Amino acid sequence: AGHEFSAVRAALPQWVEESRKLTSRGNVASYIPELAKSPASALGIHLLNGQGEHLTAGECGLPFTMQSISKVFTLILALMDHGEATVFSKVGKEPTGDDFNSMLKLELVEPGIPFNPLINAGAIAVSSLIKGDGPEEKSARVLSFFRELAANDKLDYDEAVYRSENETGHMNRSLAYFLKENEVLDGCVEEVLQVYFRHCSIRVTCGDLSRMALVLAFDGQDTLTGKTLIPRRFVQIAKTFMTTCGMYNASGEFAISVGLPAKSGVSGGILTLVPGRYGIGVIGPALNRKGNSVAGVDLLEKLSGRFDWSLF
Ligand code: GLU
Repeated sequence: AGHEFSAVRAALPQWVEESRKLTSRGNVASYIPELAKSPASALGIHLLNGQGEHLTAGECGLPFTMQSISKVFTLILALMDHGEATVFSKVGKEPTGDDFNSMLKLELVEPGIPFNPLINAGAIAVSSLIKGDGPEEKSARVLSFFRELAANDKLDYDEAVYRSENETGHMNRSLAYFLKENEVLDGCVEEVLQVYFRHCSIRVTCGDLSRMALVLAFDGQDTLTGKTLIPRRFVQIAKTFMTTCGMYNASGEFAISVGLPAKSGVSGGILTLVPGRYGIGVIGPALNRKGNSVAGVDLLEKLSGRFDWSLF
């Protein structure tokens, strides 16, 4: 394993520069206006092992918002708050073939519940399950859980991205009202959306993502403190959704080309892990047509291919 770590260290800087060339083929997300300001040619990676040794390359210090990556961890928090039976009465377990914000298939899993917790409709339903007295307390619980997983007390919201998304999130608003109509959401729709938009706007670096991913890689244990942060069963559920639905409509393709549980976000971040070995955070804001970081996916393909990381 030590041998592999040195080999990754030796290869990484050059591979980042090779993959970076693909950024010219992608586009930064602009439907959330604030995200359009992201640096299109950036690519960075942070890889962390169970002993706390890390490797970095490229713009690994670039801050970005978690966006859809946060959905993995709000799902886990909702499972810890309520257990499986309640959570899966509000959201299904199946992939969709649709774009992440599609309403078309929303109704097909009976009785009107969203297909899975990683599409927007499903994640909004999950946000409504977070325990707390009002949206502020719910958001505070999410933030403190994320801080604990990232071992970073400074993790916080990007207020500009939050406001930008709240002002322009008409599709998410309509999904949420549709869920309310179908009695999937309890309580006030605007308050649920506040919790949802807030967790999407939590600002991180690749280092934070790698630390959060490491907890998943070790079945809920923080190997660096010895604490159990997540029950193993809920990590298993989260990793399964990451594998089947984590990379939008390219999840099948990514399972073939990389073969690791992963979750991407429209900011260009990717959180992935090699079970029992590494937590990995990647940022590359230029996205391919499926909404995943074009250079980030390419870099992970190189790594997984060369070091034989595929689980399959
Ligand atoms: N906050 C974003 C939205 O709801 C997340 C989308 C994503 O990263 O896929 O539109």
